[in-house]
Amino acid sequence: MEARRRMIKGGVQQPQIHRNDKDSEAVKATDALPLPMYLTNIVFFCLFFSVVYYLLLRWREKIRNSTPLHVVTLSEIAAIVTFIASFIYLLGFFGIGFVQSLLIPRASHEDILDEDDFDLRVLKDDSRAAPCGVADHCKISDPQLSPCTPVEDEEIIKSVVEGKTPSYSLESKLGDCRRAAAIRREALQRTTGKSLAGLPLEGFDYDAILGQCCEMPVGYVQIPVGIAGPLLLDGREYSVPMATTEGCLVASTNRGCKAIHASGGATAVLLRDAMTRAPVVRFGTAKRATELKFFLEDSHNFEDLSLVFNSSSRFARLQSIKCAIAGKNLYIRFSCSTGDAMGMNMVSKGVQNVMDFLGNDFPDMDVIGISGNYCSDKKPAAVNWIEGRGKSVVCEAIIKEEVVKKVLKTDVASLVELNMLKNLTGSAIAGALGGFNAHASNIVSAIYIATGQDPAQNIESSHCITMMEAVNGGRDLHISVTMPSIEVGTIGGGTQLGSQSACLNLLGVKGASKEAPGSNSRLLATIVAGAVLAGELSLMSAIAAGQLVKSHMKYNRSSKDVSKM
Ligand code: ADP
Repeated sequence: MEARRRMIKGGVQQPQIHRNDKDSEAVKATDALPLPMYLTNIVFFCLFFSVVYYLLLRWREKIRNSTPLHVVTLSEIAAIVTFIASFIYLLGFFGIGFVQSLLIPRASHEDILDEDDFDLRVLKDDSRAAPCGVADHCKISDPQLSPCTPVEDEEIIKSVVEGKTPSYSLESKLGDCRRAAAIRREALQRTTGKSLAGLPLEGFDYDAILGQCCEMPVGYVQIPVGIAGPLLLDGREYSVPMATTEGCLVASTNRGCKAIHASGGATAVLLRDAMTRAPVVRFGTAKRATELKFFLEDSHNFEDLSLVFNSSSRFARLQSIKCAIAGKNLYIRFSCSTGDAMGMNMVSKGVQNVMDFLGNDFPDMDVIGISGNYCSDKKPAAVNWIEGRGKSVVCEAIIKEEVVKKVLKTDVASLVELNMLKNLTGSAIAGALGGFNAHASNIVSAIYIATGQDPAQNIESSHCITMMEAVNGGRDLHISVTMPSIEVGTIGGGTQLGSQSACLNLLGVKGASKEAPGSNSRLLATIVAGAVLAGELSLMSAIAAGQLVKSHMKYNRSSKDVSKM
């Protein structure tokens, strides 16, 4: 801004605004002057006024002496030349700036970058070159866009910026998802004045997310995927993909996998497989609400209800209905298996069918919401911790004494003591809800992101109680994780996207299982629990080793940098 004002004043105004003052300093025309600008101005001012004074004196003297004015001495010629030169300089310096400020009033305003100057505002933040062939006022070029923005795209960008074309309608209007994302992105940069240069646009299948995963895309975020493993679980080895930006997490889980492998592997058992949805309905009286409760919980009615529910999908199978009353409001928690899908859509469709069916016998039932939070989705809730949601899994391993020492750099007694005081007592004191573990959510979230699960469901999916006990005469460690609400699927949602699908493929659970529907998602749930077991083992060991370093310096334990272990 300052640079621009100086240029205008200096009569060397350029049509463009540079990215910031620093950049402007590098190219300003005044750099060509031998003296700083203010000194040059002083010199020319002094020259101008002194020659004017000199010439006036000479003029008065000539009039007094009756000397003709056109007879000039050498010094008078020099004074006249100096007068003309300094006049031209001062006119150029002040006059052109003044004239231009009249012609372009906004150029002289302090706040030149007002709301309409989308392109200028972006350029203020953005040093990228202007694309070729675009209108002067649209000088943004995104390196992710093609080198030349087609003229018709430029028109649409302008239309979106001006609010004439809704951004959300681009995909349907253009019929080209990648192009729609590129146009939306460019319009967004202009309207916000912020550059998206670091957010990639290319290299993503925008058709794959349409109507399924993400609306109004402008690019995608890159998250590195690391591999922990092999995780030896139920006799099979798995390389576990983890998408994370938390350093040490993959390395730590990998160390846990190593300890499990060296001890003969882990075992997982799936206890339950049922996704839930709980609508809330209201009656005129609590008595009427209880009548529906008893109707729904009567085993004689279950067959009819499940017929209605199951008609929603080949894979939805109603398992149970559990009701809770709050006055005249009834919360109905439907649980059903959903094949290889995580199942939220499926269960919701089934519930809708049952609600319509119940309307015949209970016409006074007012369905307030298809979800009444007794489900409970993406919120910490005791109902999931106690009753389970999605897949309930217990996973265990016996870690040998020498492995605890060599791989985990600690001992069994320290681990058992730490688990009791931290994961059990400490969490109880903290009033934890399903949080009786060290960092289950770290592993759950990283696997969820890598395999296209809904990362928001890490809340209940990370419910976990970690148990540790000394076995085999106190020499070895029995460790287990019990996780009642692992919500995973291998079909639907983000699982079909290229990179997420590749991670599922790595685990051998990609897509729907044709032989045994539901077996892929169930296997994935056990892998999640196995990886959590590894993560718990490693972090707990690191903490225990840290305590030992403090209290037993003589052992001189190694660094906690597990990547070196
Ligand atoms: P969600 O219920 O997890 O939101 P979607 O409804 O998006 O999942 O995806 C499930 C879809 O996949 C359903 O239309 C279902 O009919 C289909 N599908 C095909 N094979 C299977 C399978 N083995 N298990 C579950 N769903 C399957």
